[in-house]
Amino acid sequence: MSGRRRTLLKVIVLGDSGVGKTSLMNQYVHNKFSQQYKATIGADFVTKELQIDDKLVTLQIWDTAGQERFQSLGVAFYRGADCCVLVYDVNVMRSFDSLENWHDEFLKQANPADPKSFPFILLGNKIDVDGGNSRVVSEKKAKEWCAAKGNIPYFETSAKEDYNVDPAFFCIAKAALANE
Ligand code: GDP
Ligand code: MG
Repeated sequence: MSGRRRTLLKVIVLGDSGVGKTSLMNQYVHNKFSQQYKATIGADFVTKELQIDDKLVTLQIWDTAGQERFQSLGVAFYRGADCCVLVYDVNVMRSFDSLENWHDEFLKQANPADPKSFPFILLGNKIDVDGGNSRVVSEKKAKEWCAAKGNIPYFETSAKEDYNVDPAFFCIAKAALANE
């Protein structure tokens, strides 16, 4: 592989506390899921190497360390992001209602050169809960929000059951690469 340059892509993950941001990243990067709730402490990011077409890519995925409750993530968190992943819990209406705020907050803090074309991806997580019976946000409603925001790609996921996690992050990586 000598002489081949790896492309570093920075991805940041935003959404209300408890929606499963850390779990999705753990499932994607370490193939692990934990039922225990631990507000993320410490580590700023995890990395995953993958190949997209003939390009070697290092995804650097930034997680919030519980500060999402205060919306005080600091400039280093947002700086140089190539893609923004928004996450909500399909069983919690408030986490869906918060998306607007997270979207606006990202654009305000990261201040990308072309906000209209900046790649966002939306993940509706925890679709496994109660066999889907406690779901309060429909796929249709989520897709309408995405359409209104300029056709943001949408994935329904379960970090617990490892459903759609790899396809979602592959889409994220591709979007980040296209924006690089
Ligand atoms: P964060 O605050 O957004 O980082 O959320 P966490 O990843 O810490 O997850 C919060 C809680 O939800 C934890 O107890 C996880 O085990 C649980 N959780 C995360 N994803 C899923 C999922 O897809 N399904 C189910 N049933 N629980 C999940
Ligand atoms: Mg977390």
